Amino acid sequence: YIILLTTFWIANCEEEYCSVDSTAACGEKKECNIQYKKVLNEQYTKYYNAIEEAENNYYNTCNNNNNDCYNNIILRDLKPFKEEGINKDLISIAKNRGTFYQIIDGKLYRQKECMFPSRCAGIEHFILKLAPRLPDMDLVINVRDYPQSSKHFGSPLPIFSFSKTRQYYDITYPAWSFWEGGPAISLYPRGLGRWDEHRRSLDKASNNTVWERKENKAFFRGSRTSAERDNLVLLSRKRPELVDARYTKNQAWKSDEDTLYAPPASEVPLEAHCNYKYLFNYRGVAASFRHKHLFLCRSLVFHVGDEWTEFYYDAMLPWLHYIPVPKDADQTVLESLIQFVIHNDKLSKTIADRGRDFIWNNLRMADIEQFWEKLLKKYSELLTYKATLDKHLIKINRTEKS
Ligand code: UDP
Repeated sequence: YIILLTTFWIANCEEEYCSVDSTAACGEKKECNIQYKKVLNEQYTKYYNAIEEAENNYYNTCNNNNNDCYNNIILRDLKPFKEEGINKDLISIAKNRGTFYQIIDGKLYRQKECMFPSRCAGIEHFILKLAPRLPDMDLVINVRDYPQSSKHFGSPLPIFSFSKTRQYYDITYPAWSFWEGGPAISLYPRGLGRWDEHRRSLDKASNNTVWERKENKAFFRGSRTSAERDNLVLLSRKRPELVDARYTKNQAWKSDEDTLYAPPASEVPLEAHCNYKYLFNYRGVAASFRHKHLFLCRSLVFHVGDEWTEFYYDAMLPWLHYIPVPKDADQTVLESLIQFVIHNDKLSKTIADRGRDFIWNNLRMADIEQFWEKLLKKYSELLTYKATLDKHLIKINRTEKS
């Protein structure tokens, strides 16, 4: 690593800092470059150490044999209810924050209204399959983006949400968009969904664009659902040879102000992301669905921030499966991280491959189904009463699609 780093310094010094005419200016620049190199050296050493530590501490427990990669998440989320259990009153309060479901005698029932019908359908696809082998239970599923049971307001509510931070009690479930109901953009007018199909098409795209053929650039395309994305977009405007990051329109777009004072970019299909070596993932309103797709490109994922998670995130490790980026990283930090991976191509490919293998092997449709099953079985053990059918609910039947 150190040899590589020194080589990079020398190349960088000759290229960038001694090309001016005046010898004095060149001398000054050299002085400045020494400082610059010192800072860079410290940063790079930090990155190398982090990677080495991650590699040394990694025990491959998540190998899919027992499907135990995500057990900790179930234990963590159900822990607040373990001592006293979940009684009917808690469910009644939770009902105001989500969609009420029941599983009775192996059949699935739901309140008539669902705020986002295709999201409900995306969830029902999984539960319908499992219902015949699940015990009776009441459950409240939040289909909004945002979690509902804050640790700062009141006691834990038993409500299922697809994404949350550690500041919420919500019980994490696999998002609807593994099947349907993901955000509808012009490229995916019926909503991003069908993870099984994306797995296949992204695998094909990644085989067609092997590492050596990818562009040596960082890439991001998406709308401005969070201002955390701004610094990368601004860096891209300044250093287009290093980053291509632009904002697209979403349904809320009104003017160029919503795309950070530039015309919106065209949307780029997920498969075309595979043309780039470095792919950025940012949170949106909550966790962004793009996360899992990026890994399947066999590109190196830069994952920004560690607060907003989906059920599988914590089983992936920073520096081992992806490059972690602080959520408040300014343009200088972003640039230094991108330079670091560019100058460590072999190491970058190793991390990219590990990230891809994790998602490919441990986030199959079967893993999602098994997570749902374990989660609902464990959850039902906490109910302190016997669920009985609420006559106001409608029965959910399997459709051809599900
Ligand atoms: N998306 C895409 N190509 C684009 C823009 C967006 O494939 O050019 C996908 C992206 O991967 C994400 C979804 O559309 O899963 C919504 O992206 P957006 O940035 O609008 O919102 P987010 O959900 O990330 O907050």
